[in-house]
Amino acid sequence: MSRNKQFKAESKRLLDLMINSIYTHKEIFLRELISNASDALDKLNYLSFNEEGIDRENLKIKISTDEQNKTIIISDNGIGMNESELEENLGTIAKSGSLVFKQELDENKKDDVDIIGQFGVGFYAAFMVAKEVVVESKKYNEEKAYRWVSDGSNGYRIDECDKADRGTTITLFLKDDTKEENYSDFAKQFKIETLVKKYSDYIRYPITMMVSKYEGEGDDKQLVVEEKTLNSMVPLWKRKRSEIKDEEYNEFYKNKFNDYADPQKVIHTHVEGAVTFDALLFIPSHAPYNYYSQDYEKGLQLYSSGVFIMDKASDLIPEHFRFVRGLVDSQDLSLNISREMLQHDRQLKVMANRIEKKIQSELKKMLANEREEYEKFWANFGLQLKYGVYNDFGAHKDMLVDLLLFTSSKEKKLVTLKEYVERMKEGQEVIYFASGDDVNKIDQLPAAELVKDKGYEILYLTDNVDEFALQVLQEYDSKKFKNITQGDLNLESEEEKKQVEEKKEENKDLLEALKESLKDKVSDVKLSTRLKSHPVCLSADEGLSFEMEKVLAQMPDGNPYGMKAVRILEINPNHAIFNALQNVYAKDKDKISKYADLLYDQALLIEGFDLEDPIAFSNAVCELMVEASK
Ligand code: ADP
Ligand code: MG
Repeated sequence: MSRNKQFKAESKRLLDLMINSIYTHKEIFLRELISNASDALDKLNYLSFNEEGIDRENLKIKISTDEQNKTIIISDNGIGMNESELEENLGTIAKSGSLVFKQELDENKKDDVDIIGQFGVGFYAAFMVAKEVVVESKKYNEEKAYRWVSDGSNGYRIDECDKADRGTTITLFLKDDTKEENYSDFAKQFKIETLVKKYSDYIRYPITMMVSKYEGEGDDKQLVVEEKTLNSMVPLWKRKRSEIKDEEYNEFYKNKFNDYADPQKVIHTHVEGAVTFDALLFIPSHAPYNYYSQDYEKGLQLYSSGVFIMDKASDLIPEHFRFVRGLVDSQDLSLNISREMLQHDRQLKVMANRIEKKIQSELKKMLANEREEYEKFWANFGLQLKYGVYNDFGAHKDMLVDLLLFTSSKEKKLVTLKEYVERMKEGQEVIYFASGDDVNKIDQLPAAELVKDKGYEILYLTDNVDEFALQVLQEYDSKKFKNITQGDLNLESEEEKKQVEEKKEENKDLLEALKESLKDKVSDVKLSTRLKSHPVCLSADEGLSFEMEKVLAQMPDGNPYGMKAVRILEINPNHAIFNALQNVYAKDKDKISKYADLLYDQALLIEGFDLEDPIAFSNAVCELMVEASK
């Protein structure tokens, strides 16, 4: 009655490939076998709606292990397989996948090929860990049972066997341990428990295991063996939101995503339409330690009808929301999907789109209704959103612009661009900003004084990316952004303009002399219209700003084109220093270059630049002090 058979040729190649560890996560064999068992239970469950006598309540998956003999047994009381089904289902693999299979082989992309998923050859994953697999099965409503046995490479045999109960029992004889892999670990109870929790927690049927533990104390202590259900069966995300307590969400998040802190925000949503899915998303309450480094991997866990498919499916979450953790479960995705396929999957794109919009709208809601919470969020991940505006040439700016916050000169509080524009002074046409290391330093900038004095609000930019982000935005609500240390501000009245022009004319020679002595350092020396009480400042011409110059200089490859802001030294004509300059120039024309250097160095310091020659600066100051004491 028994016969030896060979696997089909392709099957054999595929098996070889798989067994030779093209697929790195050997542990997924358990997920595959459990999901097959679950499918078999589903099929029987379905029949039970039309047929009498099926014990629907008792459908389950049992696992037992034997550490000594290194075996794992997985059994179900599902639909089972008869002889021809064993032959058909387990004798041939990659029935339709041969073409794709060849392509994969040719391209030799070994790293990320989910062979199992791609070909629907889940069952064969068993051979990644087992040297022999025995499948005993008795089909529902049939008399005879059959045993399928294979070592994975030399074909298989099918024999009749004794099996009392309906369903399928699969026995794995684990491979011998090697240096690289301890196959015997898979026969450990805790390992099985962990894997079930990790991959199959939400399988609808109980997955049970006989678990041994000690009970009692001292002499009464004895080993008891009891049946334990390993999976929770109902996914949290499938339960009604109104029935889930905050703690449950929090515990779930912390367990699943290894965080010690509760999430700041939980987003639980069910979407129907082109693609139906549940998403359970979390915004962490702090940035992971490696968040702004290369090590951090974004992505959401992906499930198909409760069966875990993969961790960190990165295409589900856009770069600018990469801080979001969570999972997505869809009945519209097949189990047989690999990372590579995901990138091109249309349904996945639809899902990713909906998820992005959902996150945006939740953040907007938080910003509108829970300002304090939002500012906490901003402290953690605001930088990410600003990068998001800047990245991809501004492709995501509309998604993000109304989520941005900047510190403003008014009360040094965070404002949105909308808030800024709404309270702009009458006649104000631009959005003023200034950059620097910190808010206090910017607040002290000479150029900030007059702008504030005239009643305008200034956005204080303290992150490297800020100015680049504003440059990508260009404007908000048709209001352009204007750097207060750059170009003309046009804050002065016609009258004031005239006065400055006159002064300029009167002091033409002096200004020329200053310009001449600083000719290597600045492109112009001007009488300033942006200074109030400060003697001097450095401004940049339109184009590159000082801040951008500094950021460029910090880039890994430096500033290869040597791009620099065009520097202009501005002197306050209403400051006593201007009279001093006039006096010096009148008395001793040669001395003016020393004064010019000093003024320039001061302006550099105020702008947060390093001095080119600090010693010379210090000597010059001392010289002045000595002179003044005479
Ligand atoms: P897939 O699950 O994608 O169909 P598998 O290689 O995992 O591919 O399984 C092949 C087939 O073998 C299944 O489609 C099913 O018909 C059959 N099978 C596997 N395991 C069982 C089981 N425990 N009970 C009944 N049939 C099974
Ligand atoms: Mg399967």
